[in-house]
Amino acid sequence: MNVAQIYKDASALLEGHFKLSSGNHSSFYLQSAKVLEDPKTAKLLAEALAAQIKEAGIKVDAVCSPALGGLIAGFALATALDVRFIFAERVDGDMTIRRGFEVQEGENYIICEDIITTGGSALEAARQVEADGGNIVAYAALANRGFCSRVGSDLENKESCKLPLDKPLFALDDFTFEMYSPEECPMCKEGSIAYKPGSRGN
Ligand code: ZN
Repeated sequence: MNVAQIYKDASALLEGHFKLSSGNHSSFYLQSAKVLEDPKTAKLLAEALAAQIKEAGIKVDAVCSPALGGLIAGFALATALDVRFIFAERVDGDMTIRRGFEVQEGENYIICEDIITTGGSALEAARQVEADGGNIVAYAALANRGFCSRVGSDLENKESCKLPLDKPLFALDDFTFEMYSPEECPMCKEGSIAYKPGSRGN
């Protein structure tokens, strides 16, 4: 499966001159939601992710995703694994599990995101599941930005990765992009203006 090509075909992997939320500039941008716009593609990707998890022999009772970004990927993964799906959401900045979702003592959870950058939101969701008595057996994402080391990749864990090293991270591919500070950005030096995705109504 050529995951990068699937992202490109869905206009989910953009090329240009982008200003990232970190303030750095890059010539690539992942618009993750776009690849999940077609439910058939979402199903295909989630089934490939589920196959990795099953192959690793991991026993899963439920999937939990941090809202909003992880919802569709997490639901599709839970469908592929044939387990329950719940989500955590921010209320006044704090990740919480609400809406009547109940984590049972000793249940095994996978935390699923659409894309793992440093894993901050995934870790916060995991802490909530653990606080309610659940076990975190793995983390999962469709795409990995390369800060965290995933199963089956040679990329090493970067210092900025927030995910615990003792839990496996499953993802379909690494999307590592060169990033530049605005002062050092070669595209800026050529006179181009960085564009912040989402700032023009998309
Ligand atoms: Zn730039």
